[in-house]
Amino acid sequence: MAEYKSLSPQQLRRELEALRQQYEAAQKKGLRLDMSRGKPGVTQLALSLGALDAVGSASSLKAEDGTNVCNYGAPLGLYEARRLMGEILELPPEQVIMGGNSSLNLMFDCVSQAYTHGLPGGKGPWCRQETVKFLCPVPGYDRHFAVTGHFGIEMIPVPMTESGPDMDVVEKLVAGDDAVKGIWCVPKYSNPTGYTYSDETVRRFGALSPAAGDFRIYWDNAYAVHHLYATDGKKDTLLNLMEELEKTGREDMAFLFTSTSKITFSGAGIAAVAASKTNIDCLNRRFALQTIGHDKVNQLRHVRFLRDITGIEAHMKRHEALLRPKFELVVRALSRELGPLGIASWTNPRGGYFISFDTLPGCAKRVIALCGKAGVTMTPAGATFPLGQDPEDKNVRIAPTFPDMEELREATDLFCLCVKVASLEKLT
Ligand code: PLP
Repeated sequence: MAEYKSLSPQQLRRELEALRQQYEAAQKKGLRLDMSRGKPGVTQLALSLGALDAVGSASSLKAEDGTNVCNYGAPLGLYEARRLMGEILELPPEQVIMGGNSSLNLMFDCVSQAYTHGLPGGKGPWCRQETVKFLCPVPGYDRHFAVTGHFGIEMIPVPMTESGPDMDVVEKLVAGDDAVKGIWCVPKYSNPTGYTYSDETVRRFGALSPAAGDFRIYWDNAYAVHHLYATDGKKDTLLNLMEELEKTGREDMAFLFTSTSKITFSGAGIAAVAASKTNIDCLNRRFALQTIGHDKVNQLRHVRFLRDITGIEAHMKRHEALLRPKFELVVRALSRELGPLGIASWTNPRGGYFISFDTLPGCAKRVIALCGKAGVTMTPAGATFPLGQDPEDKNVRIAPTFPDMEELREATDLFCLCVKVASLEKLT
């Protein structure tokens, strides 16, 4: 099939008619498939079941310093857990505080604390300020936008490029307006594009000059070790933001987050936040009011199971063996079915959990609706933009990890069919 734009109106109508028949046949299959959320598949979760046996007996419930993990104490988290998460973030354990089972929870809490009580370097709680703004690289992670949306924070979209957010825009916006208090970043294998910030981008983050003293970079390194091609020696690398900030004396300007949600168990892993001493002291005083300590049994379980960064890398290669074929299946199908038609573009990630897909302008909602009516659930169109509003209605997030290979093949084929139908409806 030739590019759609080279076809005559009559040819386009004929093609649409034929594809509608295929779609009706697909609807009758009664599919019930889900490509909506970036969840690990069951075979991935099985890779970590050994962690559950790692703290089996009473005698094994002691941390390295003798702490009994079944009791209160160690509010910052076990030292060895802070060391493990520090290795993922490339920071010393002293700069790391353990959270509970979710890094998103820590992000919400950091924003919430700033909103009610302010942050070091600022002029008090954000809730007392007329306007508070956040920069939101787009397409981005819907739950980040949901957090800032919850606090009524004004969200300013910043275009995402292959090397990270458009830094010309970021630098200008943060320098010119002290209401701009933060930026959401997924710096490695970003959600949903899969892009990793270039060295130049990280250096420019390290040298940012915001007007607001309580501006922070919310550096969500959720996919730090989630390579798809590590066994071939191909890993994206990310410059160490904290080192860059330290070079310019701006170490208070970032909160860094990570978790094992997509290393071990989603919703039952361990999470951490890292920052400068000033920020850690501030967070720690506030966290101490919330809990007498998070689940240290789970922290110990994770340390015993993963051991260190070498252990994590070996473990992630087992994930890679399961995930790479899924990503390649989707990208192959998109290239085969849509490549020649000139109606869409998509990313081809080297890591992470998502593929970002762009339809012709004005087609994304229709594609998702068509998929839904034929039994394939996709992330809602617009989710990758603040307030769910994609101005061009074209971005779709594809999450290939959860379905098994056969389900993924069926879901992707249906998705391609829906993209063709929606595009032809637009063009005819
Ligand atoms: N950050 C990003 C970029 C994510 O994609 C996700 C989950 O999809 C999370 C955070 C959630 O992490 P957690 O389970 O640690 O809260």
